[in-house]
Order: sequence, then structure tokens, then C-alpha cells
Amino acid sequence: MSEPENTTVKPGAEVTVDDETIKRLNQLKEDLRSHAHRYYVLDDPEVSDAEYDRLMKELTAIEKQYPDLATDDSPTKQVGAPALKKFETVAHTIRMLSLDNAFTDADLIEFNKRLSKYAEEKKITYTAEPKIDGIAVEAVYKNGRLVLASTRGDGTTGEVITGNVKTILSVPKTLKKIDGADHPALLEVRGEVYISKDGFEKLNRQRAKQEEPLFANPRNAAAGSLRQLDSKVTATRPLKVFFYALGAFEGITFTSHADSLKKLDKMGFEVNRDIKSGLNLEQVLDYYTKLEAKRDKLDYEIDGVVVKADDLELRQAAGNKNKSPRWAIAVKFAAIQETTRLLGIEIQIGRTGALTPVAHLEPVSIGGVTVSRASLHNDDEVKRKDVRIGDTVLVQRAGDVIPEVVKVIESKRTGEEQEFRMPRTCPECDTPVERVEGEAVTKCPNIKCPAQVKRAIIHFVSKTALDIDGLGKKLVINLFDSGIIKSSAGIFSLDAEVLAGLDRMGPKAAENIINAIEEKKAVPFNRFIYALGMGNIGEVAAKQLAVEFDSLDKLQTATVDDLTAIDGIGPIMAKSIAAFFRMSDNLAVIQKMSNAGVTIVYPEKQEPGSFTGKVFVITGTVGGMNRNQAKEKIELLGGKVSTSVGKKTDYLVAGGLNTPKFKPGSKYKTAQKLNIKILDDDDFMKMLDM
Ligand code: NAD
Repeated sequence: MSEPENTTVKPGAEVTVDDETIKRLNQLKEDLRSHAHRYYVLDDPEVSDAEYDRLMKELTAIEKQYPDLATDDSPTKQVGAPALKKFETVAHTIRMLSLDNAFTDADLIEFNKRLSKYAEEKKITYTAEPKIDGIAVEAVYKNGRLVLASTRGDGTTGEVITGNVKTILSVPKTLKKIDGADHPALLEVRGEVYISKDGFEKLNRQRAKQEEPLFANPRNAAAGSLRQLDSKVTATRPLKVFFYALGAFEGITFTSHADSLKKLDKMGFEVNRDIKSGLNLEQVLDYYTKLEAKRDKLDYEIDGVVVKADDLELRQAAGNKNKSPRWAIAVKFAAIQETTRLLGIEIQIGRTGALTPVAHLEPVSIGGVTVSRASLHNDDEVKRKDVRIGDTVLVQRAGDVIPEVVKVIESKRTGEEQEFRMPRTCPECDTPVERVEGEAVTKCPNIKCPAQVKRAIIHFVSKTALDIDGLGKKLVINLFDSGIIKSSAGIFSLDAEVLAGLDRMGPKAAENIINAIEEKKAVPFNRFIYALGMGNIGEVAAKQLAVEFDSLDKLQTATVDDLTAIDGIGPIMAKSIAAFFRMSDNLAVIQKMSNAGVTIVYPEKQEPGSFTGKVFVITGTVGGMNRNQAKEKIELLGGKVSTSVGKKTDYLVAGGLNTPKFKPGSKYKTAQKLNIKILDDDDFMKMLDM
């Protein structure tokens, strides 16, 4: 593959620009070309998209100031990258363009103003679409059959990838006829091939195992998977597609962009459900805010909103600029990835003794938040990603997830980087660490290790466990380090005066905390199990155990076999529970809690018959119970469980309703349509009185 020829402006050329600006301009062009090559051709970028966008903005600003310097081959005028020679190539009937970017509301308002000049006083209506972070493709249908598919390439010429695109299940190979008409003689449809977030994680795990370079993000993974010479490789990748635009067409008419999306949908193309048409500018801004809030819940990456004028005549009148149409714009979301340097790796000890390597980073702002630490998960992960101290790394911060190191930018290595080794002894208590068979974690086996105990207490009082107001991480550490408490049981014997004597405390705050502790002495069984902080036992498993066991005594004496017999409790969990209750120190802490007045509140058994006459439909796992367990509970109380939602349904129990993974299926949609009460996990557990 030959890279585009470099047109550089030499210092001293006949333009009234200082040498420094010309030097910078040439540097920017060179850097952007190299980044574009790595991104579009090698699918292996070495800077974040945000960094690339910043460089592009800087170059655009210089060229705007000195239009004579804006040569035709400037990266500001190029779409993508030339098609690779190893593929057959094809000229697009209509150029496949890039999009202008907007980063602020003001940019969008400015775009609307510019476009209004072509609208002849007509009100502009827009379609707003999720900007799918994948790779653009064009699929050509002749008389309803898929005959050709290509990448965007440099916008004019693309790579032929028909065989590869045919392996994607959601790409229709033949079209449905619509409105009683014949198939259009020609229909060129454009869309974005993408890979889901899960698919991306899986693919990268697989690549790490095979010691292949990791993809930086789902976009690069999708592009790398689609641009394969062997369709069999593409077929193994979980690619999907959303269609959103047209190229050339014959034998069909479209009255607007919104009309084209509706028709594409009817013909069998996958069209994104979050697309909204008929919006004014204000509604577009509102759409942007709502979609950004939903971003983390989607199972695919989006990096903004594409705003498109609906009116096809207006599009015609406005036309295109060098590399983008005047009638559409991409309003970008805040960046989630940045590159920075990894200065060191610290070890953090968790409540179960797990040693977690944490990257100490040169502080970098990601989407407005300064990030200076990122999780490296475990020793295997450090090895898989070959992360070394001194490396330049790509860091990601998405939603509430702890920032993580995505990959190393190997091209930035100097040879000075140092490999990381897990310590042989616990950095806190010096006990020799152990690697647990079958697990990726290295552990400090000393359950009295101060770091472990502190973490266990922090967990015990946290929001999802006992939820004790005012007793935060810092205060727990202070109480432990000053010897006032030695275990979770210690908090129930706290003395108001001692507490009030601590730094930044005072009698009122101390009294509030003592009251909050008192209030939480009666603990629901599932919360108590979770609060104990046994390894591998999360909230769901704790709920499940609370459903299965009548009392803490029974749970304490359950064998590994008893535990694995429970649906959803695997052997690792079972071993971890049994091991926890075998340790006399843990039993002593529980005893101390009981002595201090802690009581466990067991779920009240509902009166049989209280659900009589009620029909339930269940989807997913609810409150830690699988469908059969939930069904059993409902039936015990006299209710009926049906498999399909209809007019006779009283409740749809939608397990995981408020979690990011929840995908509304047909049952959910029908229940919504029929106005049937939809219960989330908590609602349902409340009905069961659990
Ligand atoms: P773009 O990604 O900013 O926008 C155009 C593309 O958006 C279209 O070609 C299409 O593929 C896609 N798209 C997704 N959903 C769409 C929808 N609903 N409607 C229409 N189009 C939709 O433009 P680009 O030219 O492909 O790439 C430029 C961007 O790529 C840069 O802003 C940068 O973020 C990134 N980039 C990064 C590097 C790097 O080194 N990190 C290098 C080059 C480019």
C-alpha cells in the first residue's frame, strides 16, 4: 500500500506566513496522514480519536487563516484513505462523504444558520440518528438482490468486500417487495458495520490468547474484521449492521429522508430504532442530551448524533463541500478514550485478599474528568496486554465503569520500559502471596491482613450492603488505623464520645452516625450475606442464597455439594462460601455482631393464596431467581405463570429491567402496548415480601 504523496510547503515559500506556522502546518499534515493511514488502513491507531480531532481542528484553523496553504491533498480535504490494492476496487456511483463535526451547541446552531440560507424561508426539519462507531459500507441491490458491497475507501473508490458483507446475518441478501411494487432496478444502500461491546471484548480476549495485537475499540475491530481477504475469517466475527442512507437508485421514489428510512425498514434492512425524524433544532438538542444519557446502556458504541436535513430538495440545493455534505453534521459526544503515559503500577489489596495491579498515569482529561489511575484487573491481564511501566497507553473511561487501560501503543516504545512483576509477598502484611488454582487472581492468604480487613469493613457499610449513612471510606480507614475498630463487628460498639473526638467530626455528626448504625442493626438476610463480603458473591447470588436458606445457621453449615446444587451457584462460589464459614475468625466476627444486637431479618413467608387469580409472565432472571424458581414462588402463593403476554396477564416480571444489559423483547413491548403492570426485580421481591 502506498501512502498518499506528501505535499509540503517549504519555509520561505511565497506566502506571507511566518516560518513557524509553515513548519507547524507541515508537521500537522504529516502527522494526520500517518494517523489516518494507521486508522483507516491498518485499523491500529496510535492516538485517540479526540487527539486526531484536535490536530485536524488546528490544521483547519491555519488553513482558514491562510487559504493559500490549503492544498488539494490536505488531510482537511481527504475522505478516509485510498482503497487497498490487495482488494478489487470499485468506483462509487455517488461519492461517499465524511461528515463535518460539531462539538458544542453553538456549532450546531451555526450549522443550522448556514443551511437556512438554502432553505428559502422554509422551516428545516431534521432527522437525528445515533452515530454508530463502525465502518461505512455500501451495498448494491439489483432487482432486489445483493450484487456488490464495498467500503467507503477514499470516498470515490472503495474496496470490494461483497463476500464478507454476505457473511453478516443482518444484511439482507434479497429484499422484500413493498407497496405491491416490483423490486427497484437499482438500490444502493449505505450503512455502518459494527461490532457489539461484548463482541469486541470477546474478540480482544481471543486475540490476546493468540498473541495478536489488540483492537483499540469496537470501530477498529469491526473495520479489521470486515476488511479481510478471506470471508471465512469475517464470518467468525460478530458483525452487525445499521443502514441509514442511500446512494444511487432507479425504479423507486423517496419523498424525504424519513420516508427512505421507513422504506428501507420495510424492505428488510436493519434501521436503528433510536432514529427520530421531524425534529426542529431545539428537539435535536434535546435528542442529543437524551441519547448521550443512554449511551452506556446501548450494547454498541456510538460517538455522537448525526443530524440530517429531511428535505431532499434542500439537500440538492445545499450540495457538498470538499469532503462533507452541507445538509448533515455529526454532533460528537465527549471523548471516552485518550492516550497517556503509564508512570507506574501499584498494588491494591481487595477485601478478599486479591492483589489488583492499578496503573498510575500521567493525569489526562477524558470527557472532562481528570484520570490518573486505571484498573489493570490482574496479572494475566497485564501480561495479555503486555503493559510495561513507561508505556504510552490508550485509556478509556466510559460511564460509571472504573477507567481501564485498553491497549499499549507499541510504536511509542523506546526500549526503556520496564516489565511488571507481581510481588511475591503482600505489600501490606508481607505474607507470601498465592495464586489460586483456576482463577486469574493472586491473593494474600492472611485474612487478618490490615488492607483486607479495612476493605471488608468499607464493603460492609457501603450503599449496597448495610448502607450506613455518614460512615464512608475515609472514616472507616481512620477508625481502623487508630485502632478503634478491628473488624466489621466493631462499628456496632462505637462510642459517640470517641467518635466525636476524631478529626473533623464533632458531637452532632457523631450522634448522627451512631443513630444511623442503630437503625441498620436489623439487617435483611440477603443484605447481610452480601455484606459479609465473601469472594465471588455479589448481590444477585446473595439474594439467591437468602431465597434458598431459611437461616444463617443453615447457610453456615451447607456443604459445597449443597451449595452447587442451587441453580446459579457455581463451584467457585460454593467453595468460597464454604471456605468463608470454615474460618473461625469470620464466625467470631458474626458472633460479635450478634452480641452487639445485630439481628437478621428473614423474609416473611407470604400467606399461600395471596396471588390467587393473578397471572404473571416472567422474562429473565429476577431477584437472583431463575424463571423456574420465580414460578415456584408465584405458584406457592396461588398465582399462575403464563409464557406469553396477553390481555389476561396481570403482571410482567421483567428481570434486570433497570440494568444496562436489559433488552426490551417482544413480551416487554406487548406489555407496554396493553398497559400491563411491569415489575422490576425490586417490585417483584417486595410483592413476595423478600
Ligand atoms: P466521521 O466518523 O466523523 O463521520 C462520518 C462517518 O460516520 C460516515 O462515513 C459513517 O461511516 C459514519 N456514520 C455512523 N453513523 C452514521 C449515520 N447514522 N449516518 C451517517 N453516517 C454515519 O468521519 P470519518 O471521516 O469516517 O472519520 C473521521 C473521524 O475518525 C475523526 O473525527 C476521528 O475521530 C476518527 N479518526 C481517528 C484517527 C486516529 O488516529 N485515532 C485517525 C483518523 C480518523
